[in-house]
Amino acid sequence: MIERVETGDGRIVRIAGPVVGASGLDNARLHDVVYVGEVGLVGEIIQISSEQATIQVYEDTSGIRIGERIQNTGAPLQARLGPGLLGQVYDGLQRPLEVLAEKTGDFIRRGLAASPLSEDIYWEFKPRACIGSYLSPGSVLGIVTESHTLEHAIMVPPGKGGRLVDINSGKFKLNDVVAVIDLQSNHKVDHFEVTLCQSWPVRTPRPVQARLAPREPLITGTRVIDTLFPVARGGSAIIPGGFGTGKTVVEHCLARWADADVVVYIGCGERGNEMTEVLEEFPILEDPRTGEPLMARTVLIANTSNMPVAAREASIYTGITIAEYYRDMGYQVLVLADSTSRWGEALREISGRLEEMPGEEGYPAYLAARLAEFYERSGKVVCLGSQEDETQAAAEPDVRTGSLTLVGAVSPPGGDFSEPMTQNSMRVVGTFWALDYELSRRRHFPAINWTRSYSLYETQDWYNQNVGSDWFERVRSASSLLQREAELLEIVQLVGPDALAESERAVLAVARMLREDFLQQSAYHEVDRYCPIEKAYWMLTIIMDFYQYVQKALGLEVPLPKVMDMPEVGEIARLKELPTEQAEMNIQELSKRIQHRFAEFGIQE
Ligand code: ADP
Ligand code: MG
Repeated sequence: MIERVETGDGRIVRIAGPVVGASGLDNARLHDVVYVGEVGLVGEIIQISSEQATIQVYEDTSGIRIGERIQNTGAPLQARLGPGLLGQVYDGLQRPLEVLAEKTGDFIRRGLAASPLSEDIYWEFKPRACIGSYLSPGSVLGIVTESHTLEHAIMVPPGKGGRLVDINSGKFKLNDVVAVIDLQSNHKVDHFEVTLCQSWPVRTPRPVQARLAPREPLITGTRVIDTLFPVARGGSAIIPGGFGTGKTVVEHCLARWADADVVVYIGCGERGNEMTEVLEEFPILEDPRTGEPLMARTVLIANTSNMPVAAREASIYTGITIAEYYRDMGYQVLVLADSTSRWGEALREISGRLEEMPGEEGYPAYLAARLAEFYERSGKVVCLGSQEDETQAAAEPDVRTGSLTLVGAVSPPGGDFSEPMTQNSMRVVGTFWALDYELSRRRHFPAINWTRSYSLYETQDWYNQNVGSDWFERVRSASSLLQREAELLEIVQLVGPDALAESERAVLAVARMLREDFLQQSAYHEVDRYCPIEKAYWMLTIIMDFYQYVQKALGLEVPLPKVMDMPEVGEIARLKELPTEQAEMNIQELSKRIQHRFAEFGIQE
């Protein structure tokens, strides 16, 4: 969103692709938004010297000429935040694509302004704060019902705390005044009028009261993630992988099924058809937690490969700012960016045009810092103003907490993880999902490599308390079984399968069950695409119990093929496709039958 507070015009003196030089922009500040040329392309000042300001232009610069006018708005790029964000599809500058298309047809004309939020809708505002009370920045003034499942908190904007002198209830439009606060600064009193929306500069993180350690997993419905490599709510993850290894499919699965209140999906520099898929499906698909259409909890930022390169940066920052705003209300927010590499490429291109000293592989030297700043905007937080006013705090001492989880896809050229985008992102995130070309070629999806991936979040206690007390134990033995399999497969490669002992073959047989019946999960199967955590737990349990039986059977010299030929082995393989309601009953019954089978060999539990 761009505010128009004009401060004096300049002239174009240089044009190099998306980078434009300007003279005569007096009083310009770094990151001021400007309008470039007669068509008014949106740009941002990214460098200032005594003679010139350098601007990165977020729209196609072809056709503009030296000498054309540049207007400075005097304000940085801002996101407009208020009810009506959910369900929207924006470009990187927060212009609603639907409105743009209505104005100009399918090919969006440049230099077009469009309000990010509808200014005509009436919202029912229910006050929560009392006149006369002191409200700190971030305090909740009242509530607007934004969707069937989400109460949108109207908060005192950061930096604007004071005594509440007026508040109204009823139906209001976005820019109507709903409350008045007396700001006390330097012994003088300023009236501050609160409307249903606020603006925030997208490059600045929104303030919080305190940061908390992320310990609770974000349940995603994807088994390999939820069991082996969880990302914490408020944590961050990257998913690097070469072309076609499944980055977009994993990101789409998270956007659909992850247990979040609000999802911001940033399509950054990737093909447009991937966004189309989301646009077609999300209004129809249901959120498994609420039964509402997925679109009702989603904000899409579409900056596809055919859109200007520089706007990728704007899309990333606009997306994360919208996410922080919902986090500040106390929600669990998930941000997905596909692909951060396209943003990195934009940084590289702009830096090249500025003739900056290049760092590794031509990326700017500040790449690592940019990525760190971006991922640091994730977090589990005590929200700003969560104490509310004095009276309320005493009655309800609970604090408001929110989380922002960040998942970035990375597209390393040739799938080589030693390149700068992967390496610099890896250093700052807590979860690493390494996609593996070999797995995807064998159609093992999601192609998350279980030996290279990791999660640093300490989520064990949560799982043990909320899913099963032996959760961590189970996960640990499953990981070591997979590890053992990898070692044995190396031996087989060297000396052939005959060299293996029966117990080692049992490892291979059960590890294969783990891989095929548990880790593999089709994103396209009606049931299997979303696996509730309880079902994942039962599935894991039955396979690991089976392994214990097998070991005991081998101890009694029962031949391995006799065990592996049990019809129950095939039934384990089909569990993932059983509807969740049936699955638990079936699993209990199946586990009894397995118990009986092994009892026939003389083995007790
Ligand atoms: P990337 O974004 O890494 O280039 P995609 O996410 O587009 O790759 O995945 C490429 C293809 O791999 C998909 O079109 C699909 O056929 C297959 N695929 C990826 N993940 C899965 C999955 N979980 N289930 C089934 N097929 C998958
Ligand atoms: Mg992709």
